[in-house]
Amino acid sequence: MQANVQLGELTTLRIGGTPVRYLHPRSVAELRSALAECRRDRLAWRVLGGGSNLLVEEGLLPYAVIHVCAPGFDRIRRPAHAVIGAGAGVPTARLLHYCRDRGLGGLEFLAGIPGTVGGAVAGNAGAWERHVCNAVRRLRVLRPDGRLKTVRRAALRCSYRHLELDGSVVVEAEFQLEPRSTELIGAQMNRYARQRDERHPLGVRSAGCVFKNPPGSSAGRLLDLCGLKGTRVGNAEVSRLHANFIINRGGAAAEDVLRLIELMRRAVRRRFGIELELEVRHWPGRSKAA
Ligand SMILES: Cc1cc2nc3c(=O)[nH]c(=O)nc-3n(C[C@H](O)[C@H](O)[C@H](O)COP(=O)(O)OP(=O)(O)OC[C@H]3O[C@@H](n4cnc5c(N)ncnc54)[C@H](O)[C@@H]3O)c2cc1C
Repeated sequence: MQANVQLGELTTLRIGGTPVRYLHPRSVAELRSALAECRRDRLAWRVLGGGSNLLVEEGLLPYAVIHVCAPGFDRIRRPAHAVIGAGAGVPTARLLHYCRDRGLGGLEFLAGIPGTVGGAVAGNAGAWERHVCNAVRRLRVLRPDGRLKTVRRAALRCSYRHLELDGSVVVEAEFQLEPRSTELIGAQMNRYARQRDERHPLGVRSAGCVFKNPPGSSAGRLLDLCGLKGTRVGNAEVSRLHANFIINRGGAAAEDVLRLIELMRRAVRRRFGIELELEVRHWPGRSKAA
């Protein structure tokens, strides 16, 4: 356990306070102990991966944060020719390079999405109409009661940006891939990365898309039509490049981001009668946490 860990240093939006307890397990056994400790102390807990899809409030956070990352969960293995198993803490970019170098395709669409394998699977990350859970062969998860369970693909309950985990922690994901030439995979990854460069604000403090796309539409387009690009609350700003991104211009408070989110939501509701749903995960502070 480490004291005084600021989640603002572990999230890409660079906002977030200090959890009452920060646990950094280095193995499945330690993860099991961390869960048992939270149970024993009647402490709510949340899992942190790469912190790239989170809006965390400031101050003392009334829950434990269990950080699933390297070095405990960063192993990649190859149990069969076209099957790769990756620990939940493996950075998604590292997994993609590993697959490319071995001529195994199927995950190229993840190129440029930050974060870890655990976070990608837990949020069913995707792009260009593809979703990571479709490539999962099976998952190893640790249930809240400490039992290790294997979930086969057919039993996964996933939908757009969602995987039902019932409180389990992803420990490892096995992917079913397709043999393909390294050059083709590399070229496809570069193409996706280039398209991202053109459309998304990269290299700035953000947590990716704020809202999910409503059925048959694009949240970014609706927000753009509302004229919201460049709108600011404090130091939080709607990106001028992509209206579904909020940028922390430096020193933004979670409250600024939350007020901007409300403003964006209201504008789309008024103009189009559409209720936008958050894609970013909101971790509340002491006054609001359940
Ligand atoms: C510039 C930028 C571009 C992005 N583009 C995309 C995109 O195109 N498509 C897309 O889908 N996302 C995108 N994102 C969002 C984000 O990168 C992805 O959702 C990513 O997969 C989250 O992984 P993470 O490890 O950072 O998860 P975190 O942000 O740490 O956590 C996200 C959620 O997953 C849970 N979680 C994390 N690890 C585990 C685990 N081991 N077990 C159980 N639950 C876990 C957390 O509790 C939390 O609820 C983008 C973000 C940025 C900053």
